[in-house]
Amino acid sequence: MNNPAIFRISPLDNVAIATDIGGIKIGDLVAAGIVATEHIPMAHKIALINFKTGDAIVRYGYKIGTAICDIPMGSWIQEHMLETPEAPALDEIKYSKSIPKQVEKLEGFRFEGYRNEDGSVGTKNILGISMSVHCVAGFANHIITRIKNQLLPLYPNVDDVIALNHTYGCGIAINAPAAIIPIRTIHNLARNPNLGGEILVLALGCEKLRPETIAGEEAESDILYMQDESLTGFEEMMQAALQMAERHLKKLNARKRETCDVSDLIVGMQCGGSDAFSGISGNPVAGFAADLIVRAGGTVLFSEVTEVRDAVEQLVARTADEEVAEKLINEMKWYDAYLDKGNADRAANTTPGNKKGGLSNIVEKALGSVVKSGTMPIVDVVSPGDRIKKKGLQFVATPASDFVCGTLQLAAGMNVHVFITGRGTPYGLAMVPVIKISSNTKLASRWHDLIDFDAGPVATGEKTISAMGWELFHLILDIASGKKKVATDVLGLYNELALFNPGPLT
Ligand code: CA
Repeated sequence: MNNPAIFRISPLDNVAIATDIGGIKIGDLVAAGIVATEHIPMAHKIALINFKTGDAIVRYGYKIGTAICDIPMGSWIQEHMLETPEAPALDEIKYSKSIPKQVEKLEGFRFEGYRNEDGSVGTKNILGISMSVHCVAGFANHIITRIKNQLLPLYPNVDDVIALNHTYGCGIAINAPAAIIPIRTIHNLARNPNLGGEILVLALGCEKLRPETIAGEEAESDILYMQDESLTGFEEMMQAALQMAERHLKKLNARKRETCDVSDLIVGMQCGGSDAFSGISGNPVAGFAADLIVRAGGTVLFSEVTEVRDAVEQLVARTADEEVAEKLINEMKWYDAYLDKGNADRAANTTPGNKKGGLSNIVEKALGSVVKSGTMPIVDVVSPGDRIKKKGLQFVATPASDFVCGTLQLAAGMNVHVFITGRGTPYGLAMVPVIKISSNTKLASRWHDLIDFDAGPVATGEKTISAMGWELFHLILDIASGKKKVATDVLGLYNELALFNPGPLT
């Protein structure tokens, strides 16, 4: 009789995950006295007990659903067999001060980065061209092409030139309360550590979002208005833009990497295209590395409100103080109301691919998702579009949409992105290196030139979470130092920035 590999996280779990590439076959013995009654695909759940209607289905030690039919031991538990529990009521969550976790500090880890005047550190040296309104996006793209062809070869220390394209800036209710989110996002994106503090804004002239608010107080900021009456014709505008760009390229080109402490790293954690393995291999490995970064004094961001909403009680228990707990609950309340206005709730998060990958519902996804934040105390909660103010583990309240979350983490100040996937996605950002982790080796083999790190050996028991967590930590340092390149940087495979605009258009 065949003994296929299964994975069970908590001793309380009454289901397990099939971890062999071929899944579990009918007649396989999965544990003492438990024989599979049907074929169960990889990453899907097998019943370890005889469930009666109304029984709790437990994974990660928590209830992920209620059985809505009898499910015999050894059978495949599918999405339609369980009912999703209600989301925890936010008003009923009580904060109780827990004993502070003893954190053993890590010393002696460094990376090579570009130090900025504001104290932040870049992991790339990029010229960013910001804009106040989408009207000038075509102009910006033209400028980028010209700079790449004519100027960039003259400034070899500059890694890239990118346009901070967005569709905001006019035709918007700029005084609506929600407008603050896209506005501060655009403002803070221009201040991402990888853009070296060189702020260059393309403007039209008549738009609602004033370019001066993006340029800010910084003395070195530059604005070019296309409607400037001293400019005649497109070529003159182009020459003015190229001159402006060249001033900034010269300064960026003079920069050199220097040895920096891990406390200068701001690592954004995200997942996308998740499967049931994400919660047992990719996310725990990322979470272990997150703990190492925080122990070394660095910063880790995690996000995706709808993906952690069902794990809110666990997160509140990890907040550093009552004020942070309150901020966290308030961000969740704001998001509940935002979804409610659109006649949706957090259950709208799961995708057909998640379900095909064995994730039955949002609760199962959330319990696996939150693991990538590690175990350290949450020292702050950052509203969407805001920049971080502290070091340590922080929750940046963003949608789970990969591009929107990534954009908001860039605005928060992220300089390295860690992205965990089970199903596979070519997701990449031009502004920061995106380290892509596969939750299973099947994906890593098929996408050998798109995946940077395979956490699959954890699911099969070949490697431990801590061994792989350390490997990932070292990879993060090498990538932050420019010693290694991520797949999306090798291929130039980048997604657009995507603003979160919960406000009305006019
Ligand atoms: Ca995501």
